[in-house]
Amino acid sequence: MKIFSDIYELIEYRKTLTGDIGFVPTMGALHKGHLSLIQNSVKNNDITIVSIFVNPTQFLEGEDLDKYPRKLEADIKICELAGVDILFTPKSEEIYFEIEPKILADEKKSYILEGYNRPSHFDGVLRVVLKLLNITKPTNAYFGKKDAQQLYLIENMLKTLFLNTKIVPCEIIREDDGLALSSRNIYLSKEERKEALKLSKALKTASKEIIKKERDSSKLKDIMLKILEPLKVEYVEIVDRDFNLLDTIELKNSIILVAAKVGNTRLIDNIWI
Ligand code: AMP
Repeated sequence: MKIFSDIYELIEYRKTLTGDIGFVPTMGALHKGHLSLIQNSVKNNDITIVSIFVNPTQFLEGEDLDKYPRKLEADIKICELAGVDILFTPKSEEIYFEIEPKILADEKKSYILEGYNRPSHFDGVLRVVLKLLNITKPTNAYFGKKDAQQLYLIENMLKTLFLNTKIVPCEIIREDDGLALSSRNIYLSKEERKEALKLSKALKTASKEIIKKERDSSKLKDIMLKILEPLKVEYVEIVDRDFNLLDTIELKNSIILVAAKVGNTRLIDNIWI
């Protein structure tokens, strides 16, 4: 596995590569969720590039940028074992320039849900993803459905900027008890880890209600909110696949989303219906 931290060295090396290139952007502290994206890429491409970059522009003042878990040595081993060809670990001061055009995510779709309490978060996400795609020029790029709104906004960016990388959405990977894997799970105490299960339990219960023919969003949200008590819920919402709020479930076109704080740790989860 080759490791590049210098952007221009990777750009030069990329020019020598042929065949299908798969790209998996991450912020590191790799877990089985990331691994599933990587495995998907390794299986379906000639070359797989993984990036590890804790992107400062997507963190707001007071968020956990400084204490975000960083585990480069372990991440290198995981990538090597998974058959990654290139690991890219750029430096923030080389990714961003003092003077540069700034891409902004669509306001209607980036200031709701995740963007409501984290305004401009998605501007930072799109800025870095566009840069990373321009550096790696992948055939396929792999993103988790766990970050459903991010996935939607990235797909929208690629479509509307006429970029020809294919986005491959990947299923949410969960622990056996249902907790969605997240780099932030390591912040959870034993007690909080148990409480965190309420997110996946609420989503599972809602999907069971839908199987029993419940279609009313507000009823489903009420059921979920009861299960989530006493967590500090940021939102429980039901949207279609284009992130328009839905009053009524549309089968094969709905996503139920939840964000809640467990202690000081903010967790998100969702289910595609
Ligand atoms: P992050 O390092 O948190 O920025 O995540 C990098 C990529 O991994 C994103 O596309 C996430 O959606 C994806 N990801 C994170 N957790 C999971 C999970 N539990 N299952 C599937 N994909 C995930």
